[in-house]
Amino acid sequence: MDLQTTALHAGYDKDTQGTMAVPIYQTTAYEFRDVEHAANLFALKELGNIYTRLNNPTTDVFEKRFAELEGGEAALAAASGMSAIFYAIANAAEAGDNIICANQLYGGSLTLNAHTFKRFGIESRFFNVHKPQEMEALIDNKTKVIFFESLTNPSIDVADIEAITAIANKHGILTVVDNTVATPVLCRPFEFGADITVHSASKYTTGQGLAIGGILVERKGLLEKIKGNPRYPQFNEPDTSYHGLVYVDVPLPIFTLRARLSLLRDIGAVVSPFNAWLFIQGMETLSLRMREHSKNALALAAFLESHPKVQKVNYPGLASNANYENAQKYFQDGLASGLLSFEVSSLEEATKIVNATKLYSLVVNIGDSKSIITHPASTTHQQLSDEELNACGVPAGLIRISAGLESAKDLIADIQQALEA
Ligand SMILES: *Cc1c(COP(=O)(O)O)cnc(C)c1O
Repeated sequence: MDLQTTALHAGYDKDTQGTMAVPIYQTTAYEFRDVEHAANLFALKELGNIYTRLNNPTTDVFEKRFAELEGGEAALAAASGMSAIFYAIANAAEAGDNIICANQLYGGSLTLNAHTFKRFGIESRFFNVHKPQEMEALIDNKTKVIFFESLTNPSIDVADIEAITAIANKHGILTVVDNTVATPVLCRPFEFGADITVHSASKYTTGQGLAIGGILVERKGLLEKIKGNPRYPQFNEPDTSYHGLVYVDVPLPIFTLRARLSLLRDIGAVVSPFNAWLFIQGMETLSLRMREHSKNALALAAFLESHPKVQKVNYPGLASNANYENAQKYFQDGLASGLLSFEVSSLEEATKIVNATKLYSLVVNIGDSKSIITHPASTTHQQLSDEELNACGVPAGLIRISAGLESAKDLIADIQQALEA
């Protein structure tokens, strides 16, 4: 099935009422038929609803539909993109282990890996996403995850997914790819060797800035990589917290199963059924929207590139961009999503331009249908010195735009008047 069809139909069999829209099952718990039924559900002899922290019929449609859209086998929804990332990594790594992360990451992922996991005894080692060979010197027998973003936020780089997964596969290490900015519509990491993807559903999936949520997807056939792999005893040895269950012996997608049975159960950052329903609505138009976001971003990037006040434009859809080749290889029709950034001469100049825009909202979010402008040096990267800003690719005069769904003509006119004000 084509993506647009999957996004409308996958994972939902109409209920006895013939309900066209997926119903919102707004409930905490579910009645068991009798004690035996309850016991079977807890023993995984039968699959079914127990309690909404573990599963919910509305969330189930979101998970099945998203998994199919991504080309994966199964998915696990979470309360936020950050909790989905936490689950993906905590499912593979434990105290005493290490993970290898790209330098170019979302701010929350950087602090999660560099600080929070460190307090849990999990060490993060960093590589330049443009130099996958750097990973070789970092890998040892305690390395459990390689984590990177397909299209990085905020630096807007495109990872060479095949080069990274080839190194990971040589060592039998799981790769976790944050595919939030590219979305399954533009990029399909499983086709290039990735094992697990994670998303913030708060961005393009909801699409209108309506709700916080996240999702983790497991590729087909992941069992073969985990079964008998000495890096992952937690899947190969009995789980004492689940009456001795050995995950590799269960005929279900085991990465999401373990994340659900142990991490959702014990940590509980679960998406609300209402938010899952909003994400289902968003998915219906995701492929249409991603084309428009990408078209608007490209039009803006081309305009900015021609403007004398603009020193540099970062957009992987521009032929002049260093990421252009990767974008052509990894993104559907070379479409490069809605994120772009550009540099003007100074902090003062950038401040003036951001304040002069009328159509763009000054917001720290991306993927909304309304266009967004941000100035990292005065917000998300405020604590850094000029030198540090340059080192992480966020100079003081850098302005980031998340191109929305307004007309390209209006978006260009507004940024032009702000540049020339
Ligand atoms: C926003 C974002 C996240 C975090 O998602 P939340 O839903 O805000 O928790 C993770 N990764 C990327 C690339 C993001 O843009």
